[in-house]
Amino acid sequence: MSIKNIPEPERLKEFRLANPDATWNQLKSDSNVNNALKVTAIKKTAGLCVYCEHKLIAKTDYQIEHFYPKKGNNNSDFGVGKPNWAIEWDNLYPGCLGGTAQVVHFTEKYDIDFRTGANKKNKRRLTCGQKKGEIDPEGLIIKPTELNNRDPIFLFNGADGSIRLNVEACIRQNISTDLGESQIVKLNLNSQRLKDARLELASSLRTQFDKAFQFDGDAIEELVEDWLALNENEMYELPFISMISSKYERN
Ligand SMILES: [Zn+2]
Repeated sequence: MSIKNIPEPERLKEFRLANPDATWNQLKSDSNVNNALKVTAIKKTAGLCVYCEHKLIAKTDYQIEHFYPKKGNNNSDFGVGKPNWAIEWDNLYPGCLGGTAQVVHFTEKYDIDFRTGANKKNKRRLTCGQKKGEIDPEGLIIKPTELNNRDPIFLFNGADGSIRLNVEACIRQNISTDLGESQIVKLNLNSQRLKDARLELASSLRTQFDKAFQFDGDAIEELVEDWLALNENEMYELPFISMISSKYERN
């Protein structure tokens, strides 16, 4: 996942300067600021969850993820020289609901199977921000801006949909392998729910790939370019963009 450098929305900036000590709930209760934040933050990842790369769906499977925790509603952790992480633009990323989306919001089987069913009783389905909770991410989770699409640090296993660390890619980018392993565990990126979702995408891509393969190399290259392209709204059409580029892109 590459994070795009998207300027802070004016409304958020005004709010932040006027209310430097604001809590997350105070921000959210200002619907103009909250709306501006939501429509702008999602551009940072072109529509994907910053951690699992599932495609986000406004209102039903999309929330703002705080990389550094917002500490409930008390903002207890900031002081002189420390930003108020609850409302700091650089700390706000688009994330999925970690498997806790509500079944009633969906009609497609894909969404019901792969976006719902996680809760306190079914923790193994919890991923991303929901799994991460309020832990201090330092040394446990990679800062989103330190990853990129050109050299994904995970390899995809086509047999079961799991991901594992690409040690060479970590070395090339000076990312510690402990940190990479921790990323998978702390965000539960190998939950069965995500493995199944990746497998389903991989099998539909495989069919398209095999068709293109009957033509020539150019057809394949065009196909992969299409998969990774942004649409007219500057959003990805497909999820799991790092999986696609690590599996199919020729560097
Ligand atoms: Zn996610």
